[in-house]
Amino acid sequence: MSVNISPNTSHADCLIWAGAKTNAGYGHRTIRGVSYLAHRVAYEEAKGPIPAGMEIDHLCRNRACVEPSHLEVVSRRENVRRQAASRTHCPSGHPYAGVNLYLTRAGHRVCRECHRRLDRESKQRKASRDKERAYLAEKEPR
Ligand SMILES: [Zn+2]
Ligand SMILES: [Zn+2]
Repeated sequence: MSVNISPNTSHADCLIWAGAKTNAGYGHRTIRGVSYLAHRVAYEEAKGPIPAGMEIDHLCRNRACVEPSHLEVVSRRENVRRQAASRTHCPSGHPYAGVNLYLTRAGHRVCRECHRRLDRESKQRKASRDKERAYLAEKEPR
């Protein structure tokens, strides 16, 4: 394997897994009837065992890549944080960009459009609850 890998990882020097892939796009291979994720095997072959409970993060964000220098052992928490940071759209498909992106004090990214919608819905729910309560209060015998 090449030792001349720039620390600036890019898709250009990715080592793309040519074999089978999982639905999520990760390379996988079967060794003696057991299925392994190809990038985990590649990491362990190059750098040693992955500690229990740890995950492999693709620094190049290319799931099919098995280039060990693009792989880093991270905790589940860190992996989730990184994945969230690399997301460009909210689950409803609105862009996390410009005026639509809102950062909470905790550093979480919030889609303004979805936030507005949720806010509106909860206000509507509250309004109808208040109306119902007022109605019931009127009906209550005094
Ligand atoms: Zn890569
Ligand atoms: Zn949204």
